[in-house]
Amino acid sequence: MTLFQYDFMRFGLKDLVDVLIVGFIIYQVMKLVKGTRSAQIVVGMSLIAGVAFVSYWFQLEGLTWLFSTLAPFALIVLVIVFQPELRGVLAQMGQNRFFRRFVRIQQRKTLDEISRAAARLSELNYGALIVIERNTGLRNFAESGKEMNAELSSELLVTLFTPYTPLHDGAVIVAGDFIVAAAASLPLTTNLRYRKLFGMRHKAAIGVSDVSDAVVVVVSEETSKISIAYQGVLDTDIKKSEFKEKLAAYLQK
Ligand code: ATP
Ligand code: MG
Repeated sequence: MTLFQYDFMRFGLKDLVDVLIVGFIIYQVMKLVKGTRSAQIVVGMSLIAGVAFVSYWFQLEGLTWLFSTLAPFALIVLVIVFQPELRGVLAQMGQNRFFRRFVRIQQRKTLDEISRAAARLSELNYGALIVIERNTGLRNFAESGKEMNAELSSELLVTLFTPYTPLHDGAVIVAGDFIVAAAASLPLTTNLRYRKLFGMRHKAAIGVSDVSDAVVVVVSEETSKISIAYQGVLDTDIKKSEFKEKLAAYLQK
């Protein structure tokens, strides 16, 4: 079916669908990388693509040769650079009913390990800040700390927050059943309501929950109280016996 025709150009229904799908994909990619360092990478790559296009347009043979030789490798570079984002996208695609069971088992593990760690950290009087990533990517914060790719366990969490160790200062970021970063710095909340009430650790927990859908667990070094920040609100002094249930409820939201 032809929608409109101009000289030799024909624009049909098929082309419209094609353009819409490409537009949708580009929009999703931009949404994914917005505000992260990947945004700069995307801009950089667009510039290279622009130069390649110009060289092709003006038939600069040498440059065109260079780009066409390097093109196959570009795909590999893309996969490596965007590995965390691709993981996220594939994980989201896997969230259909068929895979839910598997995901739930993984979520239960995350819940168990973090609950055990929070109880232990509180007993030990260690301060802790654990950010559980959900839909909003936290890669820019992970990049501010020490990035790692370690399987989540309560023992590792307690180890990471042990005072005077190299990575204890800052936040741990958890995604799925992985610890993706430690010693990360988070933005402090600007909400005046919390100005006088809490120290930096708690303000950082609220701050990251202001700008993302993350669920943030805080253990106070001063009072050993456990709190959860979500959507800019701090739920303070949670009883150890109720913690797991509460965390599960926040993660369901
Ligand atoms: P606590 O009750 O544990 O003392 P607090 O809310 O009083 O917590 P502070 O005493 O100000 O917080 O800071 C304690 C620790 O919190 C710091 O040593 C640091 O590890 C961590 N922290 C502070 N600010 C940030 C931040 N912006 N991002 C990540 N971690 C932070
Ligand atoms: Mg303090």
